[in-house]
Amino acid sequence: MTRKQIVKKATDRLRKTLGNRKVITVGDSKYLASFDSSKLAFDYAALVVARSDEDVGVVLKLANEYKVPVTTRGAGTSLTGSASPARGGWVLDVSRLRRIVVKKEKAMAIVQAGALAKAIQDAAEAEGLFYPPDPSSQKYCTIGGNIACNAGGMRCAKYGVTRDYVLALEGFLPNGERVSWGGEYKKFATGYNIRDLWIGSEGTLGVVTKAVLKLLPKPEKTLTLIAAYDSDEDALIAVQKLLQEGFFPAILEFLDKRTIYCAEEIAGVRLFNHVSGKPLLLAEFDGSANDMPKLALEVSDWAKRTSVAFKKARTRAQAEFLWETRRKCSGAMFALGDTKINEDIVVPLENQVKFAKFLDTLVKRSRLPIATFGHAADGNFHVNIMYHRDDDSEKARAKKAVSDLMRKVMSLGGTISGEHGIGLAKTPFMKVARNEAEIEAMKAIKKALDPNNILNPGKIFDVYEVWNHTPENVTLPWDKKRPKGRRTLPDYLL
Ligand SMILES: Cc1cc2nc3c(=O)[nH]c(=O)nc-3n(C[C@H](O)[C@H](O)[C@H](O)COP(=O)(O)OP(=O)(O)OC[C@H]3O[C@@H](n4cnc5c(N)ncnc54)[C@H](O)[C@@H]3O)c2cc1C
Repeated sequence: MTRKQIVKKATDRLRKTLGNRKVITVGDSKYLASFDSSKLAFDYAALVVARSDEDVGVVLKLANEYKVPVTTRGAGTSLTGSASPARGGWVLDVSRLRRIVVKKEKAMAIVQAGALAKAIQDAAEAEGLFYPPDPSSQKYCTIGGNIACNAGGMRCAKYGVTRDYVLALEGFLPNGERVSWGGEYKKFATGYNIRDLWIGSEGTLGVVTKAVLKLLPKPEKTLTLIAAYDSDEDALIAVQKLLQEGFFPAILEFLDKRTIYCAEEIAGVRLFNHVSGKPLLLAEFDGSANDMPKLALEVSDWAKRTSVAFKKARTRAQAEFLWETRRKCSGAMFALGDTKINEDIVVPLENQVKFAKFLDTLVKRSRLPIATFGHAADGNFHVNIMYHRDDDSEKARAKKAVSDLMRKVMSLGGTISGEHGIGLAKTPFMKVARNEAEIEAMKAIKKALDPNNILNPGKIFDVYEVWNHTPENVTLPWDKKRPKGRRTLPDYLL
């Protein structure tokens, strides 16, 4: 029998076991699960919609019997292709498993894998508690996907990433055996910590069906502030000062001069009356009602000393308007190119100023618009390399620019991904970021837990060059509105 015939036989058996409602082989929903937010699509045999934990076990057991690849899927918001079924087979959709139970007395949330990040935050807040991880895709993405990617977000500056809130996981090994790592308790020292191995493994080592999450007391007050700087370097020096002076911002976002051009000149956002075109820091501080007045004075003093202009949001609506700038710049960049290589590199605090200088050189050298914004306090910057897909010269320069970027980031003591993961998009740079011994150790773990290479094959280790593939031409619910018309950066930004 050919591979295709074997997969068909396996799919027929799966359909007999789970029924037509759960095993879908044609139609729109199947097409929409052939790619994630990278829009890199692959042909595959069936979309399996799990309605219970047991369904997950059934799928994996049959997949092992027939050696069918399985790609687990939450909401498909991954930006790296990690949820695209690169080797075909079955897509296992766990997004229908979405129960959330908050246990106030334990400060924990017990959630199924398909629960949305925002729904978990809301459920925690309804009990006066706080679930800090806040990926910008929070309204759409699932906790299973967040755990698999170890998702971050803006509040990581103070509160850390998804991993810092996962107390326990329940789910299935690649061979379909049910396992649980930890429980509704905060301490465990009982053998290997496979819970943490699953976190960030991009669905290659197991399928999460349930998680126990740690919750915090909800901060009483927040203070939002925006500050403008003469140069990207000045803004990043101000970040260092802020942290050196012992401040603990909940959020500290940096928007470089090219990002600001996109926000102001393309999206039309105006933040200051007399200051424009300046890189920005957007900061949010939180704490108790008692501490806030003193903190507000100290933060204003820092802003006065370091910036050319600053303002505090007086109301929640004003704060929302400031955050809107951060959200709008990303879509506005598409006026500069129809294709974006969106990296999420990390640079240690002490080298961020050097990194800003490098970005200027990279723009000059590549002659491409490259706009950078991101989480300055933890050094996780989103570098957006824009180009036109049909222009071979721009495409070649974009490819070179991303390669130069990754090498530079590593030489500055950083790493190639802080929150999105490797998926397909960053596979060409795994060997830049990790040495042979490290990669072999990872592969040995994969082989031990998944000897048949069932879960999410083709990811992390096999090189896939995104720029050689054409993404699907579809608009996803979370896509930002793209501006009409084409723009080029003014000379002073090139
Ligand atoms: C507009 C936008 C903004 C974003 N902002 C951020 C951000 O601020 N921070 C950030 O970190 N990311 C961000 N992302 C990326 C993305 O939202 C995250 O990686 C998110 O964690 C993916 O969740 P998901 O449910 O969509 O997972 P999917 O995209 O469906 O899957 C992602 C990976 O997780 C695996 N997986 C999914 N569910 C499970 C499970 N139950 N068990 C095992 N493996 C599983 C998949 O196989 C795949 O490898 C953003 C994406 C978009 C589109």
